[in-house]
Amino acid sequence: MRAHIIDGKALAADLRASIAEAVRALRREHAVVPGIAVVLVGDDPASSVYVRAKSKAVGEAGMKAVDRRLPASTSEAELLALIASLNADPSVNGILVQLPLPRQIDAQKVIAAIDPEKDVDGFHPINVGRLASGLPSLIPCTPMGCVRLARTVHASIAGMDAVVIGRSNIVGKPVAQLLLAENATVTIAHSKTRDLPALCRRADILVAAIGRPEMVRGEWIKPGATVIDVGINRIIDASGKPRIVGDVAYAEAVQCAGAITPVPGGVGPMTIACLLLNTLRATCAQKGLTAPTI
Ligand code: NAD
Repeated sequence: MRAHIIDGKALAADLRASIAEAVRALRREHAVVPGIAVVLVGDDPASSVYVRAKSKAVGEAGMKAVDRRLPASTSEAELLALIASLNADPSVNGILVQLPLPRQIDAQKVIAAIDPEKDVDGFHPINVGRLASGLPSLIPCTPMGCVRLARTVHASIAGMDAVVIGRSNIVGKPVAQLLLAENATVTIAHSKTRDLPALCRRADILVAAIGRPEMVRGEWIKPGATVIDVGINRIIDASGKPRIVGDVAYAEAVQCAGAITPVPGGVGPMTIACLLLNTLRATCAQKGLTAPTI
């Protein structure tokens, strides 16, 4: 059996088109233009690439992107002052601070300073707590994308066994919360888990968010399982060329999985689309409008 390839790029394009349509209606009917501030501190090359891609997508959706670039030497107090001014700015509906931050800045302090209603990354402790309590909240973008991709394969995942490898605050834990909210039976695996291959073989849905190139082998995958590969790993391949691979050995996994996300072209594009969706939802909430169901 060869797996169905979950085309994240195409699904993200559909989602972005629906969001752009909703943004046009918001502008037409309420004269509202969603605005998002994208804050980058320092010059980490990978972060610069992500920030550029996010700002471009925001513009294409008809939203307003406010780019704030700060030098790597920025102090914590200076960044907190910027966050306070963005919190107070009514034209800014979403605030995204690109991580990681330079060493002198406490990322948790910065995240906690963002107005939870503008926290389009869904990392603020209030949104984390609301998600864990089953209350409406802004949901982290990559985890939301993972579950939306899985839901393109399964109309319902209730009762399914889901294994999430990775327990980070930005991916593993919120993915697990979302799968639980969908009534899956969820196990979170991590670096101290015993016999990871055996655990993975029980999974109907396997989410890999590890950051280790091709660690999950084909033989770890239950035949027919849905595999969501979050990993983005830069490697030099056998021919000496740089390449991006996921956390799953794709060529092996595609032979036995029922469905699988490729890397690139799977979770990555959905992450950006979900950021736009969060910005739209945050804007509607701030303006007292009902967000469209997308
Ligand atoms: P992280 O380093 O914060 O967390 C990695 C997790 O993997 C940890 O919880 C750790 O316990 C677990 N782990 C490490 N080694 C393990 C092992 N040998 N066995 C089992 N578990 C192990 O990373 P993260 O921020 O959660 O990101 C994970 C991956 O997802 C990275 O490759 C990152 O680049 C990628 N990522 C992709 C997107 C996207 O949009 N596609 C977004 C965020 C992160």
